[in-house]
Amino acid sequence: MNLVPRMLAMCASMGFLALAACSPPAPQVGGAAPAAAAAPKPVASDAPYSLADFAKVRKFDAHVHANGADPMFLQQARADNFELLSINVDYPDFPGIELQHVAALQLAKDDPQRFHWAATFSMKGFGTPDWLARTNKRLDDEVAEGASAVKVWKNIGMVEKDAKGQLIKLDDPGLSPVADHIQSLGVPLIAHQAEPYNCWLPLDKMTTDNDREYFSKHPDYYMYLHPEMPSHEDLMAARDRFVAAHPQLKFVGAHMASLEYDVDVLAAFLDRYPNATVDLAARMSQVQYQSIRNREKVRDFFIRYQDRLMYGTDLTQAPDADPVVFKAEAHAYWSSDWRYLATGQSQRIEMLKADVPGLALPREVIDKIYYRNAVREFGLKDQSAAL
Ligand SMILES: [Zn+2]
Repeated sequence: MNLVPRMLAMCASMGFLALAACSPPAPQVGGAAPAAAAAPKPVASDAPYSLADFAKVRKFDAHVHANGADPMFLQQARADNFELLSINVDYPDFPGIELQHVAALQLAKDDPQRFHWAATFSMKGFGTPDWLARTNKRLDDEVAEGASAVKVWKNIGMVEKDAKGQLIKLDDPGLSPVADHIQSLGVPLIAHQAEPYNCWLPLDKMTTDNDREYFSKHPDYYMYLHPEMPSHEDLMAARDRFVAAHPQLKFVGAHMASLEYDVDVLAAFLDRYPNATVDLAARMSQVQYQSIRNREKVRDFFIRYQDRLMYGTDLTQAPDADPVVFKAEAHAYWSSDWRYLATGQSQRIEMLKADVPGLALPREVIDKIYYRNAVREFGLKDQSAAL
């Protein structure tokens, strides 16, 4: 069976799939109407933020995909007081990386204060003599144009093969000079490696309905059925060797570094690699699954690692998206996450078939996870005080 091209057809991430399929987790949102204009920053308080604070607090979504220059994403970001990091990615179901690049330049020109972007590169020609020079030149050019990071995707590890027909892992020696070059440019490398752990589990052991439903309908992408493919552990080990080999590289593990299934495992990763941070994109239901069972443990994790976590969603603006529908979805998704992380209010999460109480994280922690960590990591201007 030719798994490779079909693997490429797989969604950029399972959480992204839920968004792309227009089925965010049915958030129940209240009291978080978009702000018409910048409001004063709320005064410091021991009480957690409320739903009404949502639009007042400067926020940063560190993992989105604006796959078109239509202003709809920026318009909603302004309404909900977000800055965006739009991550270009060599994903076949997205417009090509050149088109993503053009869209990013346009949106950054339209609103340089709200819109930031990450470059990427193609693995086409990897291992040939000019691939390295071409790739590093491309990254030089894109960082000079304003790219704030570089992204690698799970095609490294699960799709791309070397001349011998072996899957190329992130710790392949041929990628090391690119990592060194990215480090010399001073920008982080964002790495999406592997898939949610559920992808390697039998259906009855999966934690969320969206994964269970997706993998039961897409057996080709369901790693539990493909023991010839690398295990989750293999992919994590290759990633870990790479991070260990580049201790000065700013490393961002996309999607909670694919360790979304257990905050203890993610904590151990962060403890082992001080140069690593993670984004939370498209994995909130996995965190909520854990917090239903032990809210204090999950809350303590966020507080302990408050400097290492960056809020993100994987919200994806398709080139032909309907602006009204897209903006409503983005607002609902952002509002639901705010309710969960910032407030103590419960909400129904359909993919868990459960009511999930909010974590009510301290304001200082929210300010870091939702803004300051991203500004620091991506070397951007802190604009929260300018409101
Ligand atoms: Zn993504």
